[in-house]
Amino acid sequence: MQAPFTRSTPKPPSPEAGVLSSVRGSLAGIVVLSVIGAAGSVVPFIAIVELARALMPAIDGAPVDAARVWLIVSIAIAALIVSVGTAFLSGVVGHFADAEMQHSLRQRIIRHLQRLPLGWFDRRSSGAVRKLVENDVVALHQLVAHSIQDVLTAITVPVISLVYLFIVEWRMALAALVPLVAILLVYPLMMRGAGEKYRQYDQATQALSGATVEFVQGIAVVKRFGQVGRSHRRYSDATREYVRFVGEWTRETAVSFTIVELLASPIVVLAWLLAAAVWLVGNAGVAPVDILPGILLGLGLTAPLMKLGASGQFLRNATKARQSLSEFFGLAPVSAPDRPETPEGHSVALDDVSFGYLDSHRVLEDISLACAPGTVTALVGASGSGKSTLAKLVPRFYDVDEGSMTIGGTDVRRIPSNELYRRVGFVFQDVQLLRASLRDNIRLTRPDATDAEVEAAARAAQIHDRILQFARGYDAVVGEDANLSGGEAQRVTIARSLLADAPILVLDEATAFADPDSEASIQRALSTLAASRTVLVIAHRLHTIVRADQILVLDNGHIVERGTHEELVASDGRFAAMWSDYQRNHARSLPEGAGA
Ligand code: ADP
Ligand code: MG
Repeated sequence: MQAPFTRSTPKPPSPEAGVLSSVRGSLAGIVVLSVIGAAGSVVPFIAIVELARALMPAIDGAPVDAARVWLIVSIAIAALIVSVGTAFLSGVVGHFADAEMQHSLRQRIIRHLQRLPLGWFDRRSSGAVRKLVENDVVALHQLVAHSIQDVLTAITVPVISLVYLFIVEWRMALAALVPLVAILLVYPLMMRGAGEKYRQYDQATQALSGATVEFVQGIAVVKRFGQVGRSHRRYSDATREYVRFVGEWTRETAVSFTIVELLASPIVVLAWLLAAAVWLVGNAGVAPVDILPGILLGLGLTAPLMKLGASGQFLRNATKARQSLSEFFGLAPVSAPDRPETPEGHSVALDDVSFGYLDSHRVLEDISLACAPGTVTALVGASGSGKSTLAKLVPRFYDVDEGSMTIGGTDVRRIPSNELYRRVGFVFQDVQLLRASLRDNIRLTRPDATDAEVEAAARAAQIHDRILQFARGYDAVVGEDANLSGGEAQRVTIARSLLADAPILVLDEATAFADPDSEASIQRALSTLAASRTVLVIAHRLHTIVRADQILVLDNGHIVERGTHEELVASDGRFAAMWSDYQRNHARSLPEGAGA
């Protein structure tokens, strides 16, 4: 059954190649400019030394080679200009490249997100998506705009300085090397086990932010179920663990860190170089003018090295970000139909459908059902029986493993996705609102809708009055100045579906959020939405579906009963038992006119 739908689109380019490819030329430019700039910055120091050498004869009254002096001065000035110019240019190129990279990456992320199966969003938190779009892109920004230049400077400057020093006076060069070598010896001590520590650090940070988000976002739900203590405990545990870890790490590395800082400090380096110089002049017969380069350039050797340590962390982050972006781009997109077809009419049918989530048992087995246009089909069944999964097959959150899922007689895998979303509206339990204005959330699937149309949809969804209570009304941003209860959020998604005006509607009723007030409102909103559409509804409050055209009872992935309310009650099977249970438990809380 799968064969006709296997992907025939060309293989996408290797994801690894992609992440930085848009700025490869600019990166090469930054590398060249950084090296030239760093080299140029050393030249004036060398010029000072050479100048001293050229002027030295004047002390003894000998003539000075004026042409040579001027040549040195000119070279120094030229080098200075080149160095400043290239540093500036590489900064400019870096920031342009960075802007270009961020833009093209974000576009690519969004394009790829749009091509992923909707089911992907089921499993990922919106936090993971945000991490991709924000943190990982920013980590690469640090790489392109800053770190490359920093690292190249930190390597080029000492290398050129040392080469020059060894040419002029190798003994002084050796002396200048000593602080560097000492730092390089202590540094590994400081960083011992750092890879593992960084991993633990990332873990502790993630645990903390996860617990924080959970604590803050979940507070309404958690409160309702009286579990404030538990969620808060998780939060404070994570905080304590984080503080403990950072404290321990700091203590462990404090001594070696202080030693490295001391070794690198200009005062210590200067004292050492002067001592070495005095000894070399006094005991090794080195000319005083030849120790000058060692002191001048030797002082500048340790600072770049220290900077390298900081850049190292950025480079690590950038590498990780590149990895996770590559993994993301490597995810297989939903297969596009080879020969797109337009469905005829608004019927929904499942034919011998079986489905299981990746590497797990079959969640649905041999499901066959048909929803005629304009009718209401209700799904009932115990929690975990597969109702939500079945509902998600209709807008193609997932593809069936066996059998077929058709709309208007056309397999959903042959329907282009924009066509599919025009036809199928859905309101699911895990309400997904974007961090955007309420207006934009409502017109998500119809961005060209007018304000009046948005408002009409919100009124019909019983959410208009609530929205007006926000200071900025429809412009209030979800998660910023618009904080909605679960039931209110669901009514926003109902307004969205109303506006989209899709002829087929899949509803997974909210139960977790249903407080008596919003339950009645949601119910009113849902009946407006359901009018004259093909509706597949998962019902928990059985009185809402007594008029349904057919009721399907799902048990452990199988349809075990089907019929109208009267038929099922009369047949005295599983539904009849559920119904009498329901009536006993809910008799008192049934709203006025229940069953209508
Ligand atoms: P219902 O809506 O009737 O409570 P569901 O369709 O949500 O049932 O779940 C049916 C089964 O599928 C359960 O065993 C559940 O654990 C599993 N399941 C649901 N969603 C996923 C998912 N995204 N990945 C893996 N398993 C899932
Ligand atoms: Mg469910």
